[in-house]
Amino acid sequence: MSTIANQPISLLPEVQAFLKRPKRLFINNAFVEPASGKTMPTEDPATGGVLDHIPAGDATDIDAAVRAARAAFEGEWRAMSPTQRAACMFKLADLIEQHAEEFAEIESLDVGKTITSARAIDVPFTVFLWRYYAGWATKLYGKTLDLSLPPGGAFFSYVRREPVGVVGCIIPWNYPLAQVSFKIAPALAAGCTTVVKPAEQASLANLRLAELIAEAGFPPGVVNIVTGLGESAGAALAEHPDVNKISFTGSTAVGKLIMQAAGRSNLKRLTLELGGKSPTIIFDDADMAEAIPTAAAAIFNNSGQVCNAGSRLYVQRRSFDRVLEGVVEYAQKLRIGIGLDESTQLGPLVTSEQKRRVLSYMDQGLRSGAKLVIGGPDVLQDVPGNFVAPSIFTNTTPEMSIVREEIFGPVLVAMPFDDPDEIAPVANQTHYGLAATIFTRDISRAHTLAARLNAGAVWINCFGVFDPNLPFGGFKQSGMGREFSQEGVEAFTELKAVTVKL
Ligand code: ADP
Repeated sequence: MSTIANQPISLLPEVQAFLKRPKRLFINNAFVEPASGKTMPTEDPATGGVLDHIPAGDATDIDAAVRAARAAFEGEWRAMSPTQRAACMFKLADLIEQHAEEFAEIESLDVGKTITSARAIDVPFTVFLWRYYAGWATKLYGKTLDLSLPPGGAFFSYVRREPVGVVGCIIPWNYPLAQVSFKIAPALAAGCTTVVKPAEQASLANLRLAELIAEAGFPPGVVNIVTGLGESAGAALAEHPDVNKISFTGSTAVGKLIMQAAGRSNLKRLTLELGGKSPTIIFDDADMAEAIPTAAAAIFNNSGQVCNAGSRLYVQRRSFDRVLEGVVEYAQKLRIGIGLDESTQLGPLVTSEQKRRVLSYMDQGLRSGAKLVIGGPDVLQDVPGNFVAPSIFTNTTPEMSIVREEIFGPVLVAMPFDDPDEIAPVANQTHYGLAATIFTRDISRAHTLAARLNAGAVWINCFGVFDPNLPFGGFKQSGMGREFSQEGVEAFTELKAVTVKL
């Protein structure tokens, strides 16, 4: 593990100008003050100081945004053809691409993530996703069918696919630009309008996106962005009686609150993408040159702040020491530093609160008897910023909180296993079910195990391969519904069955 990199960083003039602009809510294509006039600070992960101030929107602002979204849904957006809607989306993709470096810097500053990963993953994937879903705007269709039990006479029946209406999008802080796009792009392709509640920890990229939304030609009210706290602005959106659907990514605990709010109010449709505690399973016959660095990257990328992070490593016993040694070596070589430094491979965590949470999990692990192999809660704690060292524990038991709970930090638990037939129930011993990774050269074993794992995504001899065309989402308490793909856009539609007596 090398020391904190600390090159002086100069930001793009456009980013400097953006940071200087006062931040406002985005409602009806206009930047407006929150009704309360209040703002709140957003933290600089690299220093723990204040990076910027964002509006502290609340229920009044959410209501204004929902009204704007409703008017656009009933009015201009609905009246536009799918081709016209797609054109706005393609234009937005072009604009994001033109401002790619700006977005990469903003994400790195606000989240703490490495500029290299923001450039390689967050921004290009977002651009591609907008284009993918712009394509879907013109490709959604219903179907015709024959009645199976016609009540005498001739009938003609067809099923229409209609937009679900006003969609509330509640965003997490780990990939702010990408995550907001995962929600609003398919919603807009389906013909819905949106109210976005960014994560209070990292709202800046969403607010920069707002500026481009107006430029891309979307009519007023199609996308509205209200920053603020989850328990005020977020809860108000989940409770709002005129919101037809919530698309949420975040913790399982908040997912449950949103479900309750949806049930209490108007039975909103829900897509929930929640937590994970995903296993990486390495068999003796795996290609270790591939498996070891991939297993390490699976937990240390984005400093472990990834819902599908491979946070539990299971290795067949004969290979356990070798794999552990390899993952430790990978962790030792990671260059830790501020995200904007191009040589940094592991940035700080998003907030000091998140750092405290992660350190506390490690303390619990140590107290319950886990053995620390590298890193731990005491390393790097003398430097400013939200740094947590890549950390690996062994000698764990399934009851320990570091094995059971989502930590959302660079913390790995590694365990050996003996019987290949017994690994599926062990890997499934979690209330999550988001992803799982298998390394083996035995294709029968790989596919048999893939079928037995309770996870929405299974990667074999690879990890974290996301594609807009592949559905992504969780089994069990990792969520409901799927993002991306045809399923992801159809999730923003209602089916209407029309029957005609001829
Ligand atoms: P994390 O643990 O990763 O911070 P959260 O689930 O707390 O994830 O937050 C994800 C998103 O949910 C954020 O935008 C947050 O503001 C929002 N949120 C938090 N609490 C609530 C709530 N009670 N109702 C609606 N949204 C909420």
